[in-house]
Amino acid sequence: MENQDFGQRQMFQGNWKCSECAAEITELPFEPSGDRPLFCRDCHRAKRSRF
Ligand SMILES: [Zn+2]
Repeated sequence: MENQDFGQRQMFQGNWKCSECAAEITELPFEPSGDRPLFCRDCHRAKRSRF
């Protein structure tokens, strides 16, 4: 069983750009490693729905 507490999740603030549509990303639910492409919420969802 997983312990998921939505709404209490830590967000990382920053200034990134989506690798797909170049949209501005100001916060992420995880800490970006820097060597991986970042996707905005829309692109992330579009990618996930494909699988
Ligand atoms: Zn995007």
